[in-house]
Amino acid sequence: MANQRAESTRQTWLAMLQKFRLDPDRAASADMWSPRLDAASRDELVAIQNEKLCAAVPFLYENSPFYRRRFERLGLLPSDIGSVEDLKKWPVVDKTEMMTDAAEHPPYGTYTTTTDEVWAKRGWMMFSSSGSTGAPRVFRYTHIDREAWAWANARALLAMGFRPGETVFMMTGYGPHVWAWGVQYALQKMELPTIPGGGMDARARANIILRFKPTILLCTPSYALHLGRLMQSMGHDPAPTSVHTLFLAGEPALAVEPTRRRIENLWNARIVEFYGCTEASPHVGGYSCPALNRDTAIPATHLMEDVQIWETVDPETRQEEPPGRRGLTVCTNLNSESSPQLRFLVGDYATLTTERCACGRTHVRALGSFAGRADDLINLRGIKMFPIQVEEAVRALPGSGDEFEIVIATDDGGLDIMTVRCEHYDHQSDGPALRRRLEDEIRARCEVKVAAEILAPGTLPKTEFKAQRVKDRRKN
Ligand SMILES: [Zn+2]
Repeated sequence: MANQRAESTRQTWLAMLQKFRLDPDRAASADMWSPRLDAASRDELVAIQNEKLCAAVPFLYENSPFYRRRFERLGLLPSDIGSVEDLKKWPVVDKTEMMTDAAEHPPYGTYTTTTDEVWAKRGWMMFSSSGSTGAPRVFRYTHIDREAWAWANARALLAMGFRPGETVFMMTGYGPHVWAWGVQYALQKMELPTIPGGGMDARARANIILRFKPTILLCTPSYALHLGRLMQSMGHDPAPTSVHTLFLAGEPALAVEPTRRRIENLWNARIVEFYGCTEASPHVGGYSCPALNRDTAIPATHLMEDVQIWETVDPETRQEEPPGRRGLTVCTNLNSESSPQLRFLVGDYATLTTERCACGRTHVRALGSFAGRADDLINLRGIKMFPIQVEEAVRALPGSGDEFEIVIATDDGGLDIMTVRCEHYDHQSDGPALRRRLEDEIRARCEVKVAAEILAPGTLPKTEFKAQRVKDRRKN
């Protein structure tokens, strides 16, 4: 009986996914994959979300022991959550809760709906969260997810300017991370050619750019800087190459104005980015708005509301914030067979708006894009700051190198101190003045006194993939 309910709710949910996958095979217009969805009215979007929730909630209850236990603990039944409004009854799910579940039910945990039987029948790929602590949280996705993923990502890529004629160079290691794989399958769906760039060093990648002339690069922001500088050292200027778009992920790019300008100027290319998380895949959560005027406007990231419900919550109380108030991102995922999560705390600070965008899209946007996960927040003697605030200070120092690091340690008197180490060509001739200038820049942005060190170029290790800028050596 229980098995029957698990299967029948699964079939209902899969039929619902199919029903709302409009324009499944190709774009319905030149600049919007599915105008019926991308430009749907706010009322239409909420109606889709409500209908999907009514199928997703019973499916989770019958197929995920993690969700079943949570419903029982909260004294709720699936019928209690039938609309976006009802979601308020469901406290947000965070990573710690999932990690505990993974530790208690190794190796997969019970927070997804993929059983061994489903995996054997139509398993596609297993992905892993990139968190550095605790039990790894893994997600087994199916071929149904792969198709949903390719479709949603293709909608986002088209919006960001991926069109026939482009060649995309994928500078990624192809590890168990959702971003690059999701893009690869979407590009296949769009029939856009790619050059796989896994397993080669930066010099080999530079030579591919010079010789085969890809137009779009996919990499992390740190890597875009690293590769551009390497090309300069090889005697080649990245600016006049064939590359006109840098598709970046893994670290905030658009939200850090000075870094964005530095990378865009180095390559003479525009930056676009995705936003999302492993838990609420299979696909992008957000993508750069194509209507951005880079000289005058702040960047905005579109979220895709027919497939996910996005909201922000207060960091302390975890209660919903009204649109326009800054809070932490929470996602309800309605586009997956394997991981349709209810109110998962993604945890980036964001300010959402539902105002219609100049590009014609009606879905909610994050103004200013995303500046980092709350987990990355540095707490120094009670003062909180993001690493990107320090990054902005470093970039504000004319002539500063690309690499920098933030070292936090406890001094002999038991006081926590922070030192920002930055490379500069004038380190010998002008060291003390540069150091004072950097200290002032940081104090102006972070309202905390820190020490700066100016180093010779090449002192700090070069970032090849994702930058590890913060070294926390505090004793506590
Ligand atoms: Zn837009």
